[in-house]
Amino acid sequence: MPVCDVCFRHCTIEENAIGFCGARTCRGGHIVADNYGKLTSQALDPIEKKPLKMFRPGSKVLSIGSYGCNLRCPFCQNSSISWSHKAFAYRHDAGCYAPEEIVETAQILRKRGNIGIAFTYNEPLIGYEFVRDTAKLSKKAGMENVLVTNGTATLHVLDQIVPYIDAMNIDLKAFTNRFYKELLDGDFQMVKEFIEGAVQSCHVEVTTLIIPGENDSEEEMRRLSSWVASLEKQYKKTIPLHITRFFPTFKLTDKEPTAVSTIMNLVAIAQENLEYVFPGNI
Ligand code: SF4
Repeated sequence: MPVCDVCFRHCTIEENAIGFCGARTCRGGHIVADNYGKLTSQALDPIEKKPLKMFRPGSKVLSIGSYGCNLRCPFCQNSSISWSHKAFAYRHDAGCYAPEEIVETAQILRKRGNIGIAFTYNEPLIGYEFVRDTAKLSKKAGMENVLVTNGTATLHVLDQIVPYIDAMNIDLKAFTNRFYKELLDGDFQMVKEFIEGAVQSCHVEVTTLIIPGENDSEEEMRRLSSWVASLEKQYKKTIPLHITRFFPTFKLTDKEPTAVSTIMNLVAIAQENLEYVFPGNI
């Protein structure tokens, strides 16, 4: 039976069945993106909202998203399109667009400050074929492309898209196996490998959402920022780090919002290793 090689789950998918992420299926014995071209959101966003602080500051980017996700974050801020019941219903009723249509819209929006296309909102890489095809056309039209991702995809997927992507914001949701396994049902090692691969190919910024009692220790932030700094040194790149504040949402509503003082303290800790550290959601 065909096996999907996009992420660490390696789902075996029967003909016309759906993988764990809700976005990939099997047709004619081949694994394909069921969410190809199916958009749930489109907006012309400030680039800082991705967040990207050190890539084309002050510009805007046509931001698009589909449905589905391969992680199971209980604190998801986009649950209506990621892994809730409602999200999976989009399989049948999301609007369907060709890459050419998206690129045409992006070009029309140039007069309003648009620099290109951001693949964001849900996890874009579970439908990487649409990212690749659209970003390739966008590049040909002289625009730039941005990816906002959880980074839990294989290096094969990274290779497919990276020739057409100019900047990425990648989540590094914590710096422990425990957090990735117990809270997200994810894969810490895969994220680190993906970030390291991406840094070698385009501008990368990293985002860590701080959740009280889960990933807010000074010791963990020291290890996380030290690892990011080691990549900067090895690849001679600048990697800004965003340290952002949690608010109770979706299935994680029994925790308090992260204290602003905690964020500012962790920013100071990260600044021991990194030059560019930005607090977020404060
Ligand atoms: S991308 Fe989706 S279908 Fe493929 S292995 Fe990951 S969860 Fe399974």
